[in-house]
This record gives sequence, C-alpha cells and structure tokens, in this order.
Amino acid sequence: MISFPSDRVSSLFLPTTRELPADAHALSHQLMLRAGLIRQTSAGIYAWLPLGYRVLRHIEQIVREEQNRINAQEMLMPTIQNADIWQTSGRYDNYGPEMLRLKDRHNRDMLYGPTNEEMITQLFAQDVHSYKNLPLSLYHIQWKFRDEIRPRFGVMRGREFLMKDAYSFDISEKHGLESYYAMFAAYLRTFERLGLKAIPMQANTGPIGGNKSHEFVILAETGESRIFCDARLLKLNASQLQGTTEKHIAPWLSFYAATDDEVDMNLYHEQVPPEYRLQTQGIEVGHIFFFGDKYSIPLGAFVETQNGQKVPVQMGSYGIGISRLAGAIIEACHDENGIVWPSSIAPYLVGIINIKNGDLECDSLSQELFSRFQVMNIPCLLDDRNERPGVKFKDMDLIGIPWHIIIGPKNIKEHVVEIKNRKSGERSFLSFDQLESFFKHISPHHPPSPSP
Ligand code: ATP
Ligand code: MG
Repeated sequence: MISFPSDRVSSLFLPTTRELPADAHALSHQLMLRAGLIRQTSAGIYAWLPLGYRVLRHIEQIVREEQNRINAQEMLMPTIQNADIWQTSGRYDNYGPEMLRLKDRHNRDMLYGPTNEEMITQLFAQDVHSYKNLPLSLYHIQWKFRDEIRPRFGVMRGREFLMKDAYSFDISEKHGLESYYAMFAAYLRTFERLGLKAIPMQANTGPIGGNKSHEFVILAETGESRIFCDARLLKLNASQLQGTTEKHIAPWLSFYAATDDEVDMNLYHEQVPPEYRLQTQGIEVGHIFFFGDKYSIPLGAFVETQNGQKVPVQMGSYGIGISRLAGAIIEACHDENGIVWPSSIAPYLVGIINIKNGDLECDSLSQELFSRFQVMNIPCLLDDRNERPGVKFKDMDLIGIPWHIIIGPKNIKEHVVEIKNRKSGERSFLSFDQLESFFKHISPHHPPSPSP
C-alpha cells in the first residue's frame, strides 16, 4: 500500500449522491457514482475523484510490486503514437474504428495508443542486438484509448482506461514460454492480493495474434464473457505458489477452463465431472499472449545468438485492466449497504466516526486517534461533519472503509471505543491502549512476501 495522507470528511471532495443516470446498469457503476469515486466526463471517459483515485493507485501499486518481483522493469511510453509503426506491422487498417486516429499540424497520421506492441518492439530494435541482453521484460502503466462501440458498465468498459501492459523478449521459444509462465504466476499472485479469485482460461489470441494465450477472468453476473470451467479451480490458492515455472502453476493448467469463443464442448464434458461443471459469466481482468516473432519480424527486432546467428526476438505481451479492476472488485466485494473494499486497496483502512461533533471530549479523542494513526502510517478518514450519526454510519458503509471506530460520549466514559468490521458487521470494544496493537496487526502495510 502507498502511504496516502489521512483526511477529514468535512474538507474532502467526496460528493456522495443518490442520483444515478439511467444508463448506470451495473451495480459497481452505481456504487462508484454514489460513493463519489468517479464522474463521467464523456461517454466512456471518467474523472477519478480523490477517493476513487486512491483506490486506483492502490491497485496499480499491487500490480507493480508483482511485476517487479518477476524482474519486469517499469518504464513509461507515451499515449500518442506515430501511425507508421502500425502500418509496418499491418495493424493500422486491421484495428478498425476502435482506434482513435489523429493528425498533427503537419498533417502526419498519429493515434492514441490502444496497446503498445509496435512501439515497444521498435524501442527494443533500436537498442538491443544481442542475446547477452536477454531475457528482458518491460512494462508500463499508462492510459489507453479504444473507441468502443458500446462503452458501458462504467469503468469496466470505458473508452479511455488504465492498463498495465508488459512485454517480454527472449532468444528462443523455450525461453519465451518461461517468461510467459512467470507472468502467469505473477498474475495469479496479483489477483489474489487484490482479494479476487481470477481463473486463467484458454483464450482466443484475437487481433494481437499469436500462439498461446490465457485470459484471467473473475466470476460475476455482469461479466461479458461466457465461461466454462472446472469448479475445482476456485479452490486453488496462489499465495502458496512456490515458484514461477510451468511446473509451479501446473494445477491451474490441469483443470479445464475456457471462454465461449474457445470452448470445446466435447473436451469440457470429457474432462470435467458433472459435479464440477461451472458455466457462468465472467469479467476479463487480464490477458496474456505469447506470439513469438509476429512483431519482431516486420519491425526488425533481431538479436544475435551465441553462435553469431541473427534471429527474430521471441515476444509476449501481458495486459491487466487496472481501471476495470476497480469496478470488477466492487462487483465481487459489496453488500446491500455499499462497497466492501479488501484492506489491500481500500482508500483508507480506518474510518473514525465522531457521533457527537462539537462535544469537547468526543472531538479531542477523535483528533487524538486521527493523529495517532497518522504516526502509525495508517491512512484514516475522520468524519467530523455536523451530521446525524445515522448519516455518518451510512456513508462510511457506502464507501466501504474496512474498519470503523465509533466515538461517542458513553464509550468515552467507559474508556473504550467501539470497532466495527465493515465486512462481517462484527462489533467489539477496545480500550484506548489496545487500539494501537490491534491496527498494527491488521495493517496491510507489511512488505510483500519474499520472492519465490
Ligand atoms: P475485452 O475482450 O474485454 O474487450 P480485450 O481482450 O480487447 O478486452 P486486451 O487487449 O486483452 O483487451 O487488454 C488487456 C486488458 O485491458 C483486458 O484484460 C481488460 O482488463 C482491459 N481492457 C480492455 N478493454 C478495456 C476497456 N474498454 N475498458 C476497460 N478495460 C479494458
Ligand atoms: Mg483480451
């Protein structure tokens, strides 16, 4: 988790609302609007308000840590690209109306990048010429634009959206597949840390093209993909992954799972016993491809092998929909009162509800705890508004803060505060002194577990 400052509701730009546009069908879309996380500025284009932006940055940070763990290196490519590299790869015409095409003042054809295979291949080709510089994996986290015909479900199918896209470069197909499986393992860990069960599925390689591909899909009714899988996949646990080779992820590869455009119904029935057959809807949150020399040949990315031979570099590309994940996580984590953020990405870990604003003792205890959490590096949100307790409780539930501390005159007399867990609804009382060790214990600020 990144350390963001703590805030007071009275001065925070947190416009919660009850009014919803007619086109907000998905529950996550409604909750993101109601909880003041996002606002639409054009069809399929959103502004991220302070609360939503914190969540987005937390998701981004978890994705980043897991990319770094497998030695992918972070960089940043621009959003605007020259059309010529896309003409060279042959995708300029194929990509169709989803590509936002622009002309600069010199009448040169440019575009807002929907993905970056061409650009990264060109960058690689300019500077890497030898097997000695391989393997290499590069990634960036950057806004993409795809002029989707039907933007919907809020940030889950936007036109502008934030993606992590990584690219691997290897000397041979064998090494390329090793990079592919390392990324596969990193994805399993990433989604697990985000509090999601993402199922890897054999997938169609689509317009990116290529040889091997998996989509990572989370189960949700609003999902746009129809999926066919073995329910035993849901029982696997990525936090126990001991390494990042094909062998380590073998259980995920052994159970059948495919999306509707790839499913082989005979194979599905053959491999999945009836009691484990699961046909449902899902949301694609990540997609990995190994496509060999598809881009390296046209864009001239060749490297010299140990015996002096020139070969096209073997590539893969790996996307995660960071902004889509904010919606997808809400689809998976909510109840009738609002969002229930997993602690790992919650905008604040603790919400302090002062139920008697203006009362000297309540105000000073609230303020004291607020400062103490800041010292402990635990981001906290203090509701110090002159509102009725009911309104404060509702809002704190709606925005999904994992732990609520309720401060009122009666508790103060007994030298305790009331703590509520947003997810379970469980309430307990802690003395002022117990608070510190309690939050130290549950804080997600611990460093990520060591590399396998
Ligand atoms: P989809 O099938 O959902 O249209 P895609 O297969 O075209 O997605 P990829 O090219 O694989 O998408 O992009 C990588 C990731 O980017 C996807 O797994 C998804 O999480 C995210 N993504 C793609 N399109 C959008 C979009 N319009 N809005 C938000 N996120 C998106
Ligand atoms: Mg895809």
